[in-house]
Amino acid sequence: MPHLPRVPDSKPAYTLGKGTASPLGRTHQLSSNESPYGPLPSVTEAIQAAGLEANRYPEPGCVRLTEALSRRHGVPYDHVALGPGSATVTQQLLNAICEPGDEVIYPWRSFDAYPMLADVARAVSVRVPLMGDDHDLDGMLTAITPSTRLVIVCNPNNPTGTVTRRAELTAFLDDVPENVLVVLDEAYREYAQGADFPDGVELYRDRPNVAVLRTFSKAYGLAGLRVGYLIGHPEVASAVCGTMVPYAVSAIAQAGALASLAAEDELMARVDEVVKERTRVRETLISWGWAVPDAEANFLWLRLGERSRAFGELCARAEVAVRAFDGEGVRVTIGEPAANDAFLTVAATVDTWS
Ligand SMILES: *Cc1c(COP(=O)(O)O)cnc(C)c1O
Repeated sequence: MPHLPRVPDSKPAYTLGKGTASPLGRTHQLSSNESPYGPLPSVTEAIQAAGLEANRYPEPGCVRLTEALSRRHGVPYDHVALGPGSATVTQQLLNAICEPGDEVIYPWRSFDAYPMLADVARAVSVRVPLMGDDHDLDGMLTAITPSTRLVIVCNPNNPTGTVTRRAELTAFLDDVPENVLVVLDEAYREYAQGADFPDGVELYRDRPNVAVLRTFSKAYGLAGLRVGYLIGHPEVASAVCGTMVPYAVSAIAQAGALASLAAEDELMARVDEVVKERTRVRETLISWGWAVPDAEANFLWLRLGERSRAFGELCARAEVAVRAFDGEGVRVTIGEPAANDAFLTVAATVDTWS
């Protein structure tokens, strides 16, 4: 047996979630905030066409998609940096700008990839607890030290679905020192339709230390293809490009993303359907006495504390996969009406949760 190099214990390990598909394949997938809709016909066609050339490497530099995004957002070409999903873009960014021991501030509970991404970059995670279900922006400001390189604002926040509004966010950005980068993770922004929801792409323009993350995984329904991007000033965008493994975004992913941009109206009509369902599910739960924060993403947060795991198991037995955070709460994705009804059927059996 050859001796394989050992992975040092100090290296963080990725842990993947267990598959939740049932043997019967009937499970309603409400655990990963995916879109319930398959790709549009025009997108499927583009994906198939790209698949016929799978013997070729993708176009170097993702030029066409980068151009399309720069036009779509009205930003210069060198302000856009692509990667295989926006979580990986975050990884590229952290790897580029963090020296071991540098601090990364993020809210908590929030996207559970943040701690892992910070660990992989050997940065120190500074978690600022939510205030209720919202970001504690003052707490995040106070947490900034000379070692802080980056602050993440997740808007809307995963898993609470709550939103940081324009006035609060702008005041916060005005107070963050210029040498600290603020990353606005807007993975769910299409679902946030309130008039005072801030648009990161507007906020970053005259702020060199602000960057925005967007993804094709959620509202655009391409989670399986892996494509996301950052919009930021050239030093930030080029740091992300410089740490991307060549050809990491496949030609199929680029083709799917381009076709989805061309079909935005149809995709946003689907988003509207999900938002309607979100309102229906939330109002139904509230009418039964549940406490459900006002959410502007494609999921709802049920702060069930010690009962979270039991409720998650109850849902699983009814073939509804939700995401339970032990001791904290349960996040349920809004899916197609039948899946949401299946979830509500379980919730209806539970009397006195709140
Ligand atoms: C789903 C999600 C992402 C996007 O992940 P991809 O890598 O683009 O699939 C980013 N941020 C948050 C908060 C998310 O929930």
